[in-house]
Amino acid sequence: MSSLPIFLDLKKTNILVAGTDVFAVAKIRFLLELGAQVTSLHYEAADIVKTFESEKEKGQIKFISGSFRPEVLKEIKLVYLANVSGSELGKFLEYSQKHNILLNHIDCPENSSFISPAAVSRGSVTVAISTGGKAPVLARNLRQKIEQLLPSQIGELTDLIYQFRPSVKKLIKSSSARRKFWNKIYSDLELGKLLALSSQERRSKIIKLLGTFGQKEKKGHVLLVGAGPGDPELLTLKAHRALIEADVIIYDKLVSKEVLNLARRDACLINVGKSLGDHSVSQDEINKIIIDQAHLGHLTVRLKGGDPMIFGRAAEEISALTAKNISYEIIPGITAAIGAAAAGSIPLTHRDHSSQVTFVTGQLKGGERRDWTGLAGKGRTIVIYMGVKTAKKTMNDLIRDGFSAHTPIGIIENATKESERRLYGTLERLDHLIKGKNIQSPALLIIGDSVAEAKDFSIAYETINHIKEA
Ligand code: SAH
Repeated sequence: MSSLPIFLDLKKTNILVAGTDVFAVAKIRFLLELGAQVTSLHYEAADIVKTFESEKEKGQIKFISGSFRPEVLKEIKLVYLANVSGSELGKFLEYSQKHNILLNHIDCPENSSFISPAAVSRGSVTVAISTGGKAPVLARNLRQKIEQLLPSQIGELTDLIYQFRPSVKKLIKSSSARRKFWNKIYSDLELGKLLALSSQERRSKIIKLLGTFGQKEKKGHVLLVGAGPGDPELLTLKAHRALIEADVIIYDKLVSKEVLNLARRDACLINVGKSLGDHSVSQDEINKIIIDQAHLGHLTVRLKGGDPMIFGRAAEEISALTAKNISYEIIPGITAAIGAAAAGSIPLTHRDHSSQVTFVTGQLKGGERRDWTGLAGKGRTIVIYMGVKTAKKTMNDLIRDGFSAHTPIGIIENATKESERRLYGTLERLDHLIKGKNIQSPALLIIGDSVAEAKDFSIAYETINHIKEA
């Protein structure tokens, strides 16, 4: 950015528009609408005088004729030049530069000391767009896009919300809590709801929001948010909004950097997934961190890979919050199995091959042995989370408990991330594949006949000895 965008209160600004062409007329009309005091300099008895007759009567515009002379710029803060050229132009440029008067030569950025951006206005809300005078058409196209984006009633709503500022200040003492309240009001979700209401309903809704916000403020509020499998595009809209609004984000090692990058720049990020020396953060410690942050009145996001309710220990965090009477909300995420299935085009169910899908963990609490008999067999798909370390045992157990050694399998490491790897083969080669390709966590094992329908499976199966890196 090489220019400073500022918004001038034109009611206190005397502006001279020199010239009489259509651009001068359009500029004058625009400036008058904004309440400016305009002086129009024209050369001959031009039609322009007739165009603005009523404004002239109101005293908002005055006309002077003739050409450049220093007196015409007396008390003038801004100058717009339309069809002005030759020595006349030179005199304007020289004088305004010498006397620090801001000048815009319409469509000539090289002669201008300021440029007028393309603007979209909705009452008190104005969006200005500039390309530094380099691409006016692009600026106009962008303006059209923004016109579509800004709901027509946004200005009216802003004026209404503005009336609540004194009460909000009185009711919510801390400035960070107030910022949070305004963030909530202006979040896409609340804004959308408010815009759909009549003006009376809007007023009541804002009062209600203020009431519930005050209650939550006292004890803090926690959002348990699913970050999805890695690709930030797979976040839900709600999760995205939570990340933008959060004061504190307590995250796991499964959460990708790209997702964390969506957080507010001044948000506090707490990594509870990292091993601290030889001591990784225990669940009790995590619960305590969440509660402490909520008690500080922070909008606290507990961010977990995939979905919080699937192998995410959300239940333990929910009990801890409930015990302290802290309100919470769960925002679901795309679990790794669903992300991996989409990435590899692996149907988890299939009319011909699988009418059941089971998500299981490869590691049971206390190292218990899983009985696969209920899960194994034809017409079933099993997705194993946290199964890399115990893959060899799982492979042997599955075969012993009823799965055919030739059952198709897929191994998806870092599903939906840049570093994603997909391997395919048969169950009897599971351990070989994992070791041979040095598969690391996070990875999922998908086992069942429907895996053979994956887009890369057949090439893998036929061409390279049951091993394929897709
Ligand atoms: N709540 C998470 C699961 C947490 S358990 C969810 O719903 O996805 C951690 C296990 O999830 C990992 O060991 C791995 O098996 C799986 N996992 C998570 N993200 C993954 C990814 N991007 N690719 C492959 N597996 C993943």
